Amino acid sequence: MLKKVLIANRGEIALRVLRACREMGSATVAVHSEADRESLHVKLADESVCIGPAPSPQSYLNIPALIAAAEVTGADAIHPGYGFLAENANFAEQVEQSGFIFIGPRADTIRLMGDKVSAKKAMIEAGVPCVPGSDGALPENPDEILKIADKVGFPVIIKASAGGGGRGMRVVEKREDLLKSIEMTKAEAEAAFGNSMVYMERFLQRPRHVEIQVLADEHGNAIYLGERDCSMQRRHQKIIEEAPAPFITPEERAKIGTACADACKRIGYRGAGTFEFLYEDGEFFFIEMNTRVQVEHPITELITDVDIVQEQLRVAAGLPLQYEQKDITIRGHAFECRINAEDPYTFIPSPGLIDSCHLPGGFGIRVDSHIYQGYRIPPNYDSLIGKICVHGKTREQAMAKMRVAMAELTVNGIKTNAPLHLDLFNDEGFSKGGVSIHYLEHWLAERK
Ligand code: ADP
Repeated sequence: MLKKVLIANRGEIALRVLRACREMGSATVAVHSEADRESLHVKLADESVCIGPAPSPQSYLNIPALIAAAEVTGADAIHPGYGFLAENANFAEQVEQSGFIFIGPRADTIRLMGDKVSAKKAMIEAGVPCVPGSDGALPENPDEILKIADKVGFPVIIKASAGGGGRGMRVVEKREDLLKSIEMTKAEAEAAFGNSMVYMERFLQRPRHVEIQVLADEHGNAIYLGERDCSMQRRHQKIIEEAPAPFITPEERAKIGTACADACKRIGYRGAGTFEFLYEDGEFFFIEMNTRVQVEHPITELITDVDIVQEQLRVAAGLPLQYEQKDITIRGHAFECRINAEDPYTFIPSPGLIDSCHLPGGFGIRVDSHIYQGYRIPPNYDSLIGKICVHGKTREQAMAKMRVAMAELTVNGIKTNAPLHLDLFNDEGFSKGGVSIHYLEHWLAERK
């Protein structure tokens, strides 16, 4: 196994990785910015290194500082968590060139999937169903562009190949607006990502976001761990996730899951990954692949009993997956609520000192959080302060558990979005299951 793992992240995911390492007997190195000295993962790690001042470009995104920290502490591997450098191919490359193991896919896989045009091309070749569209970068010639759009059918969405985090996209309803919209998206993409390549897709009207979790090793094995429904989003940010996705049949799951696992084998994928799909009228349409462990991975762990982070560590150590597809069964139903330090209805961030707090517990409740009484949430990073997950026999039972857990959660000194979660777990539409990605935005607009 890995002897010593450097965790190149902060917050709850740093703690999650630290716990997995400890359970497996690997020593841990925490890195932190000056703002995160008092963070829980720093206190719990075997060693810690300060890698720079609070702003992330000078700390958590500072590649030379991270590699120097690994050298100084004699770590043999680096886990990037999610966000920050987790999907930065240059980082993965430099980690490996410096003689460390990168706990994630190979740099060229990250690069392939980080560019959405090349990712889609690879998926089409691998037989994964994609949203109908330009199937490649848009040409320069206006007549050719219009021809593609007519074939795809309006409304269409123009997306930057290098886009991410919901940025670099524009919906076009009318044919006469198309060329102007493409020019604008290209200019924005050039400014934001230094790459003006854009492509076109049919704009789906009321899809759900359903994603498939995969695991693959370096011995040619790849499996899928079922799906998650992450349709409850605000501004493309997921707020509540659940697994399995409501109303997806075992046959649908097996078909799309097998396509994803086969694609992993075909591209030589390594480690944990997620295929994101839009799902509408019984059909899956691939939109992108995430080459990292995701925020919402615990709900898959709850329904499959597979520790995804431990499998990442095993795969990075060169071991084969502990599971074959036939070992994977889905049991019960799980939800995750992302707890953010923010006003529940205006979404204004609410960093600051936690005077006191009580985190929920009990049968079927899992809390992943780095907060504690006396912890000061720095204003420099995202507002996620923890995740509350529940696992019940049925979806109804899991919803009841979440209502109890959310009512128990107390964080004094700052605001959290727990009241919003409580409202949503009492909402009739969400209770029925299978809502589209627009449900939450509409719900919030109506509430005003
Ligand atoms: P990003 O990498 O920026 O997250 P994605 O390709 O994953 O970009 O798309 C983000 C979101 O944009 C999706 O979750 C969905 O809400 C919306 N979206 C993307 N493509 C389409 C499409 N073809 N039709 C409808 N909505 C889309």
